[in-house]
Amino acid sequence: MSRRHLSSSETQALFDQYVIGNYRRYGVNLVRGVGSEVWDAEERRYVDFFPGWGCNLLGHCPARVVEAVREQVGQLIHVPNTWMMESQGIWARMLAERSFDGQAFFCNSGTEANEAAIKLARLHTPAERYKIISFTGGFHGRTLGSLTATAQPKYHEGLGPMAAGFVYAPFGDLEAVRKLVDAETCGILVEPIQGEGGVNLPPDGFLPGLREICDEHGLILMFDEVQTGCGRTGEWFGYQHFGVVPDVLSLAKSLCGGIAGGAILARREVAPSLRPGMHAATFGGNPIASVAGIAAIETIEDEGLLGRAKELADRFQQRFESWRSRFDFIDDIRIAGLMIGLQLSIDGAGVVQKCLENGLLINCTQGTVLRLLPAMNLEDSLFEEGCDILESSLAEVASSLTTS
Ligand SMILES: *Cc1c(COP(=O)(O)O)cnc(C)c1O
Repeated sequence: MSRRHLSSSETQALFDQYVIGNYRRYGVNLVRGVGSEVWDAEERRYVDFFPGWGCNLLGHCPARVVEAVREQVGQLIHVPNTWMMESQGIWARMLAERSFDGQAFFCNSGTEANEAAIKLARLHTPAERYKIISFTGGFHGRTLGSLTATAQPKYHEGLGPMAAGFVYAPFGDLEAVRKLVDAETCGILVEPIQGEGGVNLPPDGFLPGLREICDEHGLILMFDEVQTGCGRTGEWFGYQHFGVVPDVLSLAKSLCGGIAGGAILARREVAPSLRPGMHAATFGGNPIASVAGIAAIETIEDEGLLGRAKELADRFQQRFESWRSRFDFIDDIRIAGLMIGLQLSIDGAGVVQKCLENGLLINCTQGTVLRLLPAMNLEDSLFEEGCDILESSLAEVASSLTTS
């Protein structure tokens, strides 16, 4: 029944020889997962507080998504966008019903979604308007347009020249944005809550202020919700916490319950500017992604997972607050639903390594921020187990600090 797997070290040898080394990888061959648990080839089990880098918001192999995909691959795997597929249309309607009145364009990843948003902003505004304002510490993807919008010099190093027409303001600084707007500006691209930048919440009034600036100057407001979207924060979309509706919303990561998929949603007045011939994605909105996207939404609703995300967020908050007095290197706790950042005053990589050794998967971003993106359907017992492992790993790191 179960396939024999290569060992982690055999797999390592393959990667060393044949796979480009552009990722820093742990030498662990993961072979199967269920919910918030995952196993390696040596049958070691890990609690996963970072499933699928945020893509597995419903945990590993959510039943309804698995079922929908199984059925779909036996019927039709791919057809081009020169045809219609009912699932893509139904999915688009489901997304609009949960966000705002508008239309969708489908692609396969977050960076592609942002490329579509950038093009749409340029197409929808007069020809002399092309500049996009984005924010320091933001992250929008790795293709050249999205990468240029990513205002973090470390990601640009050696890759220049970057795309023309992007300017940056500090995240949260409305005055700086106002100063940057000129007759050539066409839009503003922002993550409502910065993810990769360290789980940074927007200051009060920031997002409404951006909306105002856009309305005043006829600019397109683009929210990159590749990480905050699709239920992650306990609302369908992050912007719904802030009472501000964007003109364009970018989605990917957890959009299809772990299957690759991306989308933009655009307000009905704006969407038609992405006219025939101006943009495309060969695999975008394919039948498998579409049925997976529908199944992900249905799972969240049928299982009441938006509420569960909020409940889990409160529990994480309580548990972590109780650590503050014990671990003085925890500087800040930033939680937006199931986007969780623990700002440390020490390097975070050692903590991640300790957790791995102790059977818990987490992430560190910006060097010092422990980042957790747990699944909405994380069970109580695994919540406890994972938090216990994190606490004892922090304790091990703390004691090594005092002895060294
Ligand atoms: C991950 C991420 C992206 C890039 O998504 P890819 O699917 O890797 O291209 C873009 N924006 C945000 C906010 C992200 O978190």
